Amino acid sequence: AAALPAAVLGSAVSTVHAAEIERTFIAIKPDGVQRGLISEIISRFERKGYKLVAIKILTPTKEFAMLHYDDLKERPFFNGLCDFLSSGPVVAMVWEGQGVVKYGRKLIGATSPHNSEPGTIRGDLAISVGRNIIHGSDGPETAKNEINLWFKPEELVDYGLDSEKWLYE
Ligand code: ADP
Repeated sequence: AAALPAAVLGSAVSTVHAAEIERTFIAIKPDGVQRGLISEIISRFERKGYKLVAIKILTPTKEFAMLHYDDLKERPFFNGLCDFLSSGPVVAMVWEGQGVVKYGRKLIGATSPHNSEPGTIRGDLAISVGRNIIHGSDGPETAKNEINLWFKPEELVDYGLDSEKWLYE
């Protein structure tokens, strides 16, 4: 997880907490974009208190989708999954905050929407595992790799939010 200097967060936040600030890669898949769920999904991360530090919309090539899902290349659904991810625009984002990698996964819900609790993004908004509208990094190392795959360093924006002094004690 990328640790930020305290200065980035503003003087009201202690260095202890700044060291715990991490980043995760979140993508709204083509089904989420087509279903008009971009603002709904962004809103859930934003209202929680996480900070958006990078965002863009793009249609990945199939080759790029295969790189993104490289760890799943032996799975039977890999080809269809990569066809799907490259079938239309995806909203790629980096979100920052304390515990955002793990808690981002909680906001998203279980891989299969059948098992996702109500209140989660997939639980509330999706039905099928192959159309589960959102991707989120599954751990700190994956987060770093996925951020590096999808974004150039200069596309990540370091900034403070006044609300951070109300979010972090
Ligand atoms: P997650 O996205 O929750 O991290 P995985 O990394 O295991 O889940 O799988 C990546 C994506 O592959 C899932 O989000 C889902 O869209 C798709 N997928 C996973 N399992 C299946 C399956 N059994 N059949 C079809 N698609 C699947």
